[in-house]
Amino acid sequence: MLQNVDQIRADFPILAETVHGKPLVYFDNAATTQKPRQVVEKLTEAYYKYNSNIHRGVHHLSQVATEAHENARKTVQQFIGAAHDHEIVFTRGTTESINLVAATFCEKFCTEGDEILISGMEHHSNIVPWQLMAERKNLKLKVIPFFDNGELDMEAYKVLLSAKTKLVSIAHVANSTGIVNPIKEIIQLAHAQNIPVLVDAAQSVPHFKVNVQELDCDFLVFSGHKMYGPTGIGVLYGKEDLLNALPPYQGGGEMIETVTFEKTTYNALPFKFEAGTPDYVASVALAEAIRYMQHIGLDAIKQHEDELLAYATEQLKTLDGVRIFGESMHKSGVLSFLIHDIHPFDLGTLLDQMGIAIRTGHHCAQPVMDRFGIPGTMRASFAFYNTKAEVDSLIKALKRIVVMFA
Ligand code: PLP
Repeated sequence: MLQNVDQIRADFPILAETVHGKPLVYFDNAATTQKPRQVVEKLTEAYYKYNSNIHRGVHHLSQVATEAHENARKTVQQFIGAAHDHEIVFTRGTTESINLVAATFCEKFCTEGDEILISGMEHHSNIVPWQLMAERKNLKLKVIPFFDNGELDMEAYKVLLSAKTKLVSIAHVANSTGIVNPIKEIIQLAHAQNIPVLVDAAQSVPHFKVNVQELDCDFLVFSGHKMYGPTGIGVLYGKEDLLNALPPYQGGGEMIETVTFEKTTYNALPFKFEAGTPDYVASVALAEAIRYMQHIGLDAIKQHEDELLAYATEQLKTLDGVRIFGESMHKSGVLSFLIHDIHPFDLGTLLDQMGIAIRTGHHCAQPVMDRFGIPGTMRASFAFYNTKAEVDSLIKALKRIVVMFA
């Protein structure tokens, strides 16, 4: 466990709040994480000291803001090990990044009958954008199934990959179960047939080291707000050649080179994909969040959260009537469960009364719930600022609730 967790917690003012008169226990980190003071201060600093629209001004403030934004891009590049900073496109988040790739990739490379391969454990954000394009272009969406323990069926994956497959788009870590997919093998198998792979890293980048060149993924997407950064900003990483080959997504702002009424030519990467005024304040704060994580250390973060997950799993299993969804050696940060036939909504509401925030429902992964034949689960998800004492509070609260329902 992290030795300085008290010191870390002191950086997150919200963790000292009370809810319904009880100390807050925040276990909804897969939905969004809390923000350290350092990140919030970066937002304030940008607005108070150098707020100015970027890229277009010769004046001092605009140049400072532009430099801060472009330095943030470099920070992201180094964080995920990309070869070039222009392979980093700032978006509003994972969802927008996937929509961008779905719309432009399918427009450019897909024709009727082509297939996009996703998995049965995807977040809706990695299902619906492909369905939209499948409807428009008569494509087929194929789905890799998963086993009862939540792990991906790799044999089925191998069978589904074919000459018709144009792209594989898959979660690195499933948000509903915490299952970590064998992403390197998934990529290698697809590449053996010249099929590019998009990795939805919304639930991996915040929790352990991810290096795009080591993985050799073609696209990788994630959200700032799930990794201690601000809302409204996310990242699309794409290999230079592929991004260059794609048409623009939205028009306007910095994405142009020249505009006439007859014809518009487009800017170079990454600006081609950043139409309109980017969130140049959020990008700077996201870079600060990355520095905060790096200061703790990604390996230390992983170790702390793995220990917490193992402890919480073990403690939860001491309760009667517990079913855990996603039981594997390969998990990260998420504990999804049900107790007897108590409805998750009831459990979540009672936990809230005790100051404990966990998520209940389908977690934007309805097909996962259908696969398990349940309406939803309770999901506790962990961050590096969580403690074993908080897990104890959750278990104690659950025990009380079970007695109430008995
Ligand atoms: N993909 C996964 C695996 C997620 O967990 C989430 C959010 O929970 C998303 C995509 C969507 O992220 P956002 O809402 O930040 O765009």
